[in-house]
Parts: sequence; C-alpha cells; structure tokens
Amino acid sequence: MSVNLLEIRDLTFTYPKKEIPTIQRLNMVVREGDFLSILAPSGAGKSTIFRLLTELERPQQGQILYELNQDIQIGYMPQRDLLLEWRTVLDNVTLPLELKGVQKKKARGLAAPYFSDFGLEGTQEHYPNELSGGMRQRVSFLRAIIGGCRVLLLDEPFSALDAITRLHMQDWLQEMCQKLELTTILVTHDIDEALRLSDRIFVFPSTPLAEYEEITLAEPHPRRESKVLVDHKQRILQTLFMEAR
Ligand code: ADP
Ligand code: MG
Repeated sequence: MSVNLLEIRDLTFTYPKKEIPTIQRLNMVVREGDFLSILAPSGAGKSTIFRLLTELERPQQGQILYELNQDIQIGYMPQRDLLLEWRTVLDNVTLPLELKGVQKKKARGLAAPYFSDFGLEGTQEHYPNELSGGMRQRVSFLRAIIGGCRVLLLDEPFSALDAITRLHMQDWLQEMCQKLELTTILVTHDIDEALRLSDRIFVFPSTPLAEYEEITLAEPHPRRESKVLVDHKQRILQTLFMEAR
C-alpha cells in the first residue's frame, strides 16, 4: 500500500471580490506514485487548485497536508509554457537551479544528461522560438523537474498542440513520469487525455470544485481505444452532462 503523499482537507477558496467560492470544502488524497487527473470544464477552478498547492494563493479554510509534515518539493508546469525567449534552451532549463544558487557551470552539467532522454539533443544553444510546440513542452517539462521534485503538477500541458503531436506527447509523458518515479497531478478538460494517462480521474461537473466522481483505471500503457475506456468515457460524459442540464 503506497503512502499518502499529499492530502487536501476541507479546502475552501474564494477570489477577492467574488461572492461564490471557486473551491468549496474540497477533500482529496494523493498517494505516492499516483498519476491523477482532475477533469473539469474550463473556468471551473482547475488552475486555482495548483495555485493553492504552490502557495501562490492561500485558502480561507482547510488545509493541505504533506506526508510526515515534510517539505515536499513540487514541480509545476504552468498552462502556458512561459519559456524565456531571450535565453537559450539550456539556460531556460537551468533557470530553477540557478535560482536555487547552483553555479551556472554546475547547473549546465546537471541538465546536460537529460537532453537525449527528452528528445532535445542538439537544441541546447537554440532559442525557444526555433522549437516546435511539442519540443517547447518538453523543455518546459524538463525545467519543471530539473530541481528534483517528487510531485509534478501539469496544467493542461498539451492543449495548444495538434492532435497527433498530442498523442505522442501523452505516451512520452506517461513513460517519463514512471521512469522518474514522480507523483503526478494533471489538470485537463480533455476526457481522452485523462483516460489515456491516469490511474485515477476525479471528475468535477462544475464550479465550485467540491464533490467529484472518482474513476480508477488499471489498463496497461500505452493505452489505445478499448471497451473499458469507452465505458469509462460514457460514465464521465454522464457526470458532466447531468450537471449541464
Ligand atoms: P480553470 O483552470 O478550470 O479553467 P481557473 O482556476 O483558472 O479555471 O479559474 C476559475 C475561476 O476563477 C474563473 O471564473 C476565473 O475567471 C476566476 N479567476 C481565476 N484567477 C482569478 C483571479 N486572479 N482573480 C479573480 N478571479 C480569478
Ligand atoms: Mg486553467
């Protein structure tokens, strides 16, 4: 039985000047090694959960608890890749290390071995605008994990990619998260993406994020269309559709 790495307890958050909360008494447990997806419509509050987990916002109520009260390092890949166009790919990747006080030369040495695994060999001295969309996302992913995180937060990482690139990136991402032994939380409004990647999916029908339906998947990777996935999809659509009526 894997340990609970992170627990959200009774979390409530309302943005200033808003009457209705975006998150209301949310409870959620994240286990070590989980690949978890939060599936909800646009504007429901998915990115807000990440803003709370990364302490960019403070909840009015409730708690976020970490295993044994340890300081667990979190990697965050925001919705837009936010690569710095004036820095080379290598210097974008080493940025979190430099911010932690690692010397530039050492940071470059630490980052270099990852480039081939990430399909980025030869791009070190390029600038972000010379890369394809899929490559930019891989750079962004590498930058998110380079500091050595246990939990990775991915905010709709592939929404800007074309459909075929997206499928390749999903398979690649799943493999990397497993290899790096990351506990991953993905937020998405893409049902197929959640079905392809997740061990568990939390389906939220609407805002505020409060109650959800939990779906557990055990199909092996890489996942392709299957009867089981189609059945899950049906159930998810029902959950989302019931609320819309
Ligand atoms: P999602 O990621 O699910 O699309 P968000 O978490 O970005 O949704 O936003 C949820 C709701 O909160 C939206 O209605 C959005 O307009 C609002 N919101 C987001 N950021 C802010 C902010 N800084 N101030 C006020 N309202 C915000
Ligand atoms: Mg969002």
